[in-house]
Amino acid sequence: MTTDQRFTTHTVENQAPPLGHYNAYRTDTVLQAAVNREGGGWADAHLEAYGAVAGGELMDLGYTANENKPRLRAFDRYGNRIDEVEFHPSYHHIMQLGMQYGMHAFAWRNADKTGAHVARAALAYLHNQADAGTGCPLTMTHSAVPALSHNPALAQTWLPHITSCQYDPRVLPFDKKNGCTVGMGMTEKQGGSDVRSNTTRATAQPDGSYEIVGHKWFFSAPMCDAWLVLAYAEAGITCFLMPKILPDGSRNAIRIQRLKDKLGDWSNASSEVEFLGASAQRVGDEGRGVATVLEMVALTRLDCMIGSSSLMRQAVVQAIHHAQHRKAFGRQLIGQPLMQNVLADLALECEAATALTMRVARAVDASTSNPSEAALARISTAVGKYWICKRAPPLVNEAQECLGGAGYVEETNLPRLYRQAPLNSIWEGSGNIQCLDVLRALTREPASRDALFAELHAAKGANVELDRTTAWLTQALEDRSTLEVRSRLVVERMALALQAAILVKAGNDAVSDAFCKSRLAGEHGLAFGTLGADVALEHLIGRASVASSTPVG
Ligand SMILES: Cc1cc2nc3c(=O)[nH]c(=O)nc-3n(C[C@H](O)[C@H](O)[C@H](O)COP(=O)(O)OP(=O)(O)OC[C@H]3O[C@@H](n4cnc5c(N)ncnc54)[C@H](O)[C@@H]3O)c2cc1C
Repeated sequence: MTTDQRFTTHTVENQAPPLGHYNAYRTDTVLQAAVNREGGGWADAHLEAYGAVAGGELMDLGYTANENKPRLRAFDRYGNRIDEVEFHPSYHHIMQLGMQYGMHAFAWRNADKTGAHVARAALAYLHNQADAGTGCPLTMTHSAVPALSHNPALAQTWLPHITSCQYDPRVLPFDKKNGCTVGMGMTEKQGGSDVRSNTTRATAQPDGSYEIVGHKWFFSAPMCDAWLVLAYAEAGITCFLMPKILPDGSRNAIRIQRLKDKLGDWSNASSEVEFLGASAQRVGDEGRGVATVLEMVALTRLDCMIGSSSLMRQAVVQAIHHAQHRKAFGRQLIGQPLMQNVLADLALECEAATALTMRVARAVDASTSNPSEAALARISTAVGKYWICKRAPPLVNEAQECLGGAGYVEETNLPRLYRQAPLNSIWEGSGNIQCLDVLRALTREPASRDALFAELHAAKGANVELDRTTAWLTQALEDRSTLEVRSRLVVERMALALQAAILVKAGNDAVSDAFCKSRLAGEHGLAFGTLGADVALEHLIGRASVASSTPVG
């Protein structure tokens, strides 16, 4: 008998097995229903294929890419300035898979099909669960397309590279590459929300290009092939496309000062940069920079909703899986009433977030052909970004607690999800900015108010609490003089009412009743796990569980 055998201290038991590889689409009943409801069902086979990747290989790569943060290589070994960021191979592999399946381009490559933005939103939802960091450059590449169309000549040459499904990390002029990525540079030291305080200057050159001098304080994807950048030209703030490599193969005059040491988002490099006379091409008219770049921002804000919903989804998956396998006090956690209340409440929040996100994706999809959908997209993007991004941090924290101590340990992905969770709420317009944007939409684009209420009225009569909230909102918008100071409460209730209306129309009464009672009627506490005793807890948990999945890979 060996020493180890003689002195065995314990047998490892009552630990949840690793979740293992699973198909993140096929096992997600709620996502599939939302995709079908909003018109993206034709992409099911593609989503199922990416679901296997996202719940399998991509999940493993996500761990490695986040354990090995990118590093700035400002100089080469000879002291020459190179301004490169070095990534772990797993980062490149994730980018390659994301682009192969079109997370950055699916909507544009399928622009002739109704629901292409919905299907693309589902791709992003799947991708972000495995790694949210790479979601940043992929999101920005997708979102840059409408803004770029303001310079048709540039669009014509760049778009085939931007919408290519090949990831090409080589440092070459864009037209020598098989695929390109695009980032954005708006935020400066003295102001991020208030981009009109930018100090970066653009001087027109005889050849039609501009020379850009200034800095950007957050420049999240310095490895991209180009960026949409704001700078002041003679006629005012203007949008520019700034390439990384100039046509002659030399580097543009973009100096990376340092990489940000961030709370989370570790697989992605965010940087501070200076432009020392960098060359750029104008996109849109001089003085129209904010309006032009807002076309990109509208889409990145939708992606913040997608990102936060998907973080919630992954946290719920992990929490339910753990509770299905862990026993305490002689009984499995999943069977204990109070744990059921917590898990069901988390699942309900996630379902409502996913439903609203996919509805907004449909509105974006229909925007070009349907003015009322365009008006709904305008207001519901701000409403949804505000609320869904706000809900992610407390939800992820509660999911973490379901795993007990293990949820605080890096070997699970909960700490990573927790660090990532606040980001979407800050980036691309923080909470207050979203609320102010809702007020701007109400004032300047009254059709957006009509579209919002049309969406709520379409569910009229189906749930008394929803009708009451709609009436409350109508009244709340009457006194415009105090609306700004009240706007967080008003926007929160707009979000809850929209979520309720979508769930009511989706037709699962157990889900919509639980949502309306808890979120609209006040039969709920401030923490998760405070649903009423009459709620169909097991049904809500069952909808969110991946337990019945067929393991893949
Ligand atoms: C990880 C990460 C990556 C990022 N990547 C990029 C990037 O790639 N490109 C880029 O351009 N930017 C990027 N950003 C910057 C981000 O978009 C800004 O930080 C954000 O827009 C807020 O700007 P700010 O930091 O200057 O804060 P401020 O604008 O100073 O805002 C501070 C606070 O004041 C609030 N506030 C502002 N105005 C008002 C008002 N009128 N009334 C009430 N409250 C108000 C805001 O809501 C916020 O809570 C990134 C940020 C992070 C965290």
